[in-house]
Amino acid sequence: MRCMAAMILDGRALGRAIRDQVRREVEALAARDFVPNLVSLQVGESEPSRAYLASQKKACAEAGILYTHVSLDRNVTERHFLAHVDGISKNPEVTALIIQLPVPPRLDVSTAYRHMDPEKDVEGMHPANQGSLFAGKGGLLPCTALAARELVRASGTALRGKEVVIVGHSQIVGKPATILFLNEDATVTTCHIATRDLAAHTRRADVLVVAAGRPGLVRADMVKPGVVVIDVGMNYVEGAERPVGDVAFDEVSQVAGAITPVPGGVGPVTVAMLLRNTVIATAAQAARRGGGEA
Ligand code: NAD
Repeated sequence: MRCMAAMILDGRALGRAIRDQVRREVEALAARDFVPNLVSLQVGESEPSRAYLASQKKACAEAGILYTHVSLDRNVTERHFLAHVDGISKNPEVTALIIQLPVPPRLDVSTAYRHMDPEKDVEGMHPANQGSLFAGKGGLLPCTALAARELVRASGTALRGKEVVIVGHSQIVGKPATILFLNEDATVTTCHIATRDLAAHTRRADVLVVAAGRPGLVRADMVKPGVVVIDVGMNYVEGAERPVGDVAFDEVSQVAGAITPVPGGVGPVTVAMLLRNTVIATAAQAARRGGGEA
């Protein structure tokens, strides 16, 4: 194994720079009486969403975005859940909506996405927005996948022609990341729980995006020297003070060319992307209501 210290991709600094830009765009919208207004809808409680909600609230306050957290009881019926999604979506004061994951498994979140106004869907999960992603168009695209691409760009790596390996094929991260990197003309391989020889794939990667929710899944002998590693994993392990990633950071950072830490990597950039999507959504609604160009 060749030993070198990887460039640490500082998600906090990148997130701050994006949020500064967002704040200026919010000021411009507010000057035209269009203040972005984000509602975060949660069902029940979970450790990861607690941390994500706290950063959303703080980041929105700093950027001048109105923010409301709506919390539903974990035993809410599907009918009531969907009624809330409908009500929030139809409220003209609200310009953006995020459904906080996870929701209890008995609720079908894909039905809820279809109930959302696609213009307010700042997670890019409505079928219309997924279609835009598939077609390689802009608009409201999934925040974590956008964050992964932004961090690769920050590493100075051009994606065209590169071998990109994504570990994880969830609806919210792995699949949209696959399409987003494909849209950059990278050669993309998507691995998942049924992949037979994970290391054979990860070792080929120029860019490795890991979103499996398995602490320390990727070890040093599974990557090639110089690889750019984006660790999406955010695992709450009993006894650990802080969340841990899906990549064994201490050893992989000795081999990789660039790597994101956990915490302080993908998380803060995901929040920044959520804010940027909120501004994009608000600007589009302002333009449609005759308030000028989006
Ligand atoms: P998920 O459970 O919905 O999906 C996990 C994926 O990983 C699945 O496709 C599964 O097939 C695959 N997988 C699981 N074990 C595997 C293994 N041993 N080998 C190969 N593939 C395997 O999870 P998710 O919602 O996509 O989240 C993944 C991780 O990313 C979690 O730790 C989550 O907390 C984190 N996350 C972080 C952010 C952020 O902003 N930092 C955002 C979303 C999710």
